[in-house]
Amino acid sequence: MFKGSSGLTPPIQMHQWAECSVMQIPDVSTPARYAAVGVENLIRHNPVETGVFIGPDGATHLKRKGWNNRVSFTRQELKCVKGATFTHNHPNGYGPSLDDVHLGAAYGLKEVRVVTANFRHGLSMLNAVYIVSLSRAFAVETSAALIAVQDVVRRARARGIPVVQITETLVPPGATFQEWQTAQLQALLQALTQSA
Ligand SMILES: [Zn+2]
Repeated sequence: MFKGSSGLTPPIQMHQWAECSVMQIPDVSTPARYAAVGVENLIRHNPVETGVFIGPDGATHLKRKGWNNRVSFTRQELKCVKGATFTHNHPNGYGPSLDDVHLGAAYGLKEVRVVTANFRHGLSMLNAVYIVSLSRAFAVETSAALIAVQDVVRRARARGIPVVQITETLVPPGATFQEWQTAQLQALLQALTQSA
């Protein structure tokens, strides 16, 4: 994530149609994306976050190293980044955070990108067309989704159907990508064998 140095989150506004995708093959179709991919290949395995703002011409405007879970820029700096592409690494392996979306929208960034050891994520179309309170919408959706999932799990268990946990992020947090995926597949295999 990246945060303004004041510690305050700017007004929570985002484009409802913000696009999030996991890029399979790096898209280098524009000078900014070409430059971003180059930066990402250098920082993706770093233990601390590095954030870089890139102009439409591919030139680096601002680059900073942060901590293992954040990199900070001042409000004054962020006032000058409208239309820029922002890329940074997430050492913990997570995808874009809510703060990434908020600030990308609040400061009119062309694209907010996150690179991890295994993935490259991009958020675009961040210019507000329809403004929503993202945190509130997220909280409501998370709570509704949790209830729905718990209900399905409860009904499955009541009928003796095995339940397997599949996660979006590394479990345990220190696991390698291979350990995490292998453990999930083994649990799935065990469940399928059990129910056969
Ligand atoms: Zn981030």
